[in-house]
Amino acid sequence: MMQTTKSQRLYAQAKQLIPGGVNSPVRAFGSVGMEPLFIRKAHGAVIEDVDGNSYLDYVCSWGPMILGHAVPQVVEAVAQVAQNGLSFGAPNALEVEVAQTVVEMTGMEMVRMVNSGTEAVMSALRLARGVTGRNKVIKFEGCYHGHSDSMLVKAGSGALTSGQPSSAGVPVAAVADTLTAQYNDLASVEKIFAQYPGDIAALIVEPVAANMGVVLPQAGFLQGLRSLCDRYGALLIFDEVITGFRLAPGGAQAYFGVTADLVTYGKIIGGGLPVGAYGGRRDLMAQVAPSGKVYQAGTLSGNPVAMAAGLCQLKLLRAGAESIYPAIEKTTAYLAQEMRRIASNAGVAAQVNQVGSLCCAFFTEQPVTSYAGAVSADTQRFAAYFRGMLQRGIYLAPSQFEAMFISTALTPEMVEKTLTAFKDTLAELV
Ligand SMILES: *Cc1c(COP(=O)(O)O)cnc(C)c1O
Repeated sequence: MMQTTKSQRLYAQAKQLIPGGVNSPVRAFGSVGMEPLFIRKAHGAVIEDVDGNSYLDYVCSWGPMILGHAVPQVVEAVAQVAQNGLSFGAPNALEVEVAQTVVEMTGMEMVRMVNSGTEAVMSALRLARGVTGRNKVIKFEGCYHGHSDSMLVKAGSGALTSGQPSSAGVPVAAVADTLTAQYNDLASVEKIFAQYPGDIAALIVEPVAANMGVVLPQAGFLQGLRSLCDRYGALLIFDEVITGFRLAPGGAQAYFGVTADLVTYGKIIGGGLPVGAYGGRRDLMAQVAPSGKVYQAGTLSGNPVAMAAGLCQLKLLRAGAESIYPAIEKTTAYLAQEMRRIASNAGVAAQVNQVGSLCCAFFTEQPVTSYAGAVSADTQRFAAYFRGMLQRGIYLAPSQFEAMFISTALTPEMVEKTLTAFKDTLAELV
């Protein structure tokens, strides 16, 4: 049994001071019936809690740490830049270099830096509405796009009914123009477009749904969204906050060969510091203030420290792309394949979805290709799996509806340790 006294003490104190004791809800470990661990340091693929327990980290700060933690070059870049001031609120050269690098890696024409994925999405939606002069947007049930009002919606009783806010404090009016379709179901999208042919400003999608576990786009789905948007004059927004710079240097657009009109980034783009970005075609991005009429601003946006971290990690990814991307994909595919084999040998019904360096285990007999499929998986069993893995030194995302993030720091020995832990954990579950 691991000792977690210091984490417990900190959590007790934190709960008095911070809502739920955490600064972002999923960190509280609520859905796996545990108390959170407080982390004191992380290097490579290993994180260590305040009680001195070490774990192989499959959360990677929810995606940013694709090269592992405390990458020496990134840490050095941040330390160097910080010597000369943390933020100026005036243009700096690193912003231009980040923009140049992002544009070259992704194929976008222009980009605006913000401070989070939430902000990137909120701004891209405003831009889409501003340039099209339309109000309605389509999103998919189970896709997460940050916590701005219009994206906190749960589906209504039918595809054509307006959604309801999924959070207290979000006015019904704020989600009245958000229409909800079903991921991997083009007919559900087509129905909405047919109902509101001239009213849809944009359709936003996670190209790989990675906030309902991991659900892959079926063949033709993303292409189908592209055609529907073209047919109805709506903008296609890829929310690449997770997939950006992870599936390929050019993200999901490059990986699946589908080009969006606007793309949002976060997570990896900041190298571990708070950064988001949105970008796309020049004619669209030129509509953002001060060159255009769509207002968007940020006091700390593009600050040199955040830019230095993001830029350094992006450059490492770009320079090593030919080996990095095939290697992490291969590691992840192997991990997923072996997890399937181990589950099958143990007689445990499990689906392990994988694409690139993302994967996720669902405990169900049916292949998971939709939100309905994802929510029908056995979350009690997931919680037991999570606890079993944690006891064996494997730190997974504490929720069925999150991805496993694989970093380049994970060695073959670490993968084998993970698989042994999986085998031993499953043996306890049956
Ligand atoms: C994490 C995430 C966001 C929100 O990003 P924050 O930086 O947490 O605001 C938006 N979209 C997707 C797909 C995400 O995974």
